[in-house]
Amino acid sequence: MKMNNTKIWLSSPHMGGSEQTFVDEAFATNWVAPLGPHVNGFEQDLEQYLGEGMHVAALSSGTAALHLALIILGVKSGDEVICQSMTFSASANPIVYQGATPIFVDSELETWNMCPIYLEEAIKARLAKGKKPKAIIAVHLYGMPFKADEIIAIAKRYEIPLIEDSAEALGSTYKGKKCGTFGDISILSFNGNKIITTSGGGALATKERSTKEKAIFLATQARDKAPHYQHSSIGYNYRLSNICAGIGRAQMQVLDDHVQLRRNMNQFYSDLFMDWEGVSVFTEPSSAFYSNHWLSCIRMDEALSGLNSEKIRLHLEKNNIESRPLWKPMHLQPVFKEALYYGASVSEGLFATGLCLPSGSNLTLEEKQRIRVAFKQLV
Ligand SMILES: *Cc1c(COP(=O)(O)O)cnc(C)c1O
Repeated sequence: MKMNNTKIWLSSPHMGGSEQTFVDEAFATNWVAPLGPHVNGFEQDLEQYLGEGMHVAALSSGTAALHLALIILGVKSGDEVICQSMTFSASANPIVYQGATPIFVDSELETWNMCPIYLEEAIKARLAKGKKPKAIIAVHLYGMPFKADEIIAIAKRYEIPLIEDSAEALGSTYKGKKCGTFGDISILSFNGNKIITTSGGGALATKERSTKEKAIFLATQARDKAPHYQHSSIGYNYRLSNICAGIGRAQMQVLDDHVQLRRNMNQFYSDLFMDWEGVSVFTEPSSAFYSNHWLSCIRMDEALSGLNSEKIRLHLEKNNIESRPLWKPMHLQPVFKEALYYGASVSEGLFATGLCLPSGSNLTLEEKQRIRVAFKQLV
């Protein structure tokens, strides 16, 4: 049988089946405007899923959620905010929206996330300069929980609020608790390539009902209570639409299945590279960590494998299979070249040797076979 050669994506939207029903319902009841019953329903679904008494505000994107988190925590022009360097730029950009300055911190090798040692070093160094950071943004990269006990202990010790960027980690847990419940404010993303999607969307999650209310107030143009339009502060148009929330409600029904399917993809790669010297698949460092494996990643030891990640990427590309280098650390980005950075070369080393592989919950057996064959051609 000739295999077809359609593109295999890193992570593509995977509908569960009832999305159309929810969207149709929005049309049938003419709730096509933003706001509406699906928004409240989707928020309740997320609150129930996260547990821990969380309150959730559904927003137009994860980036908007991060922006509102910073505003609610009082981050202003001239402030400093600590941010994990190895992440997607959306983690750091909202710091600049507020006129504040990002201070980047290196990763550790076990979870690839913010290193507690460098975090404390950064805080001490900034305090010595008389600059107390206004917030810490830590990220669960590729769904792998960061070292929450250590990071939270440091944030508490220095009394700095923690923003948990859980954009990639819905469905992951740390010591049995869901990612998205660890921050003073946490954020989620439902962009097209994330573990579940609303075609575009995000959420802010918090233990404080008043924080959720503030987020919704700011996200709907900060309208004061008055029959006319009255404003005492600057607002934003950051609310999720009722149509998108309908898609989200259907996606919540399949979230756990999709996490399991992504984890199966990680196992697929662990099996594929089992006897392959110099290739290591990124997996949990201990049973305290449970990753949704949003993306499965490998690291190459070129001396042992004779291959580097770029060679593999180009070979896969020729086979119409998408793969991508790991997130390029923010302190290496041209736009942040003036930013302060605390750490060594851990994230830089990861970026130089790592590769994200197709990880979708919707990859078929045939597609997996194509991936397997493409890799076998390399040895
Ligand atoms: C996707 C993502 C975001 C931003 O979410 P959007 O919904 O795309 O705005 C933020 N942080 C990380 C780590 C992400 O992967």
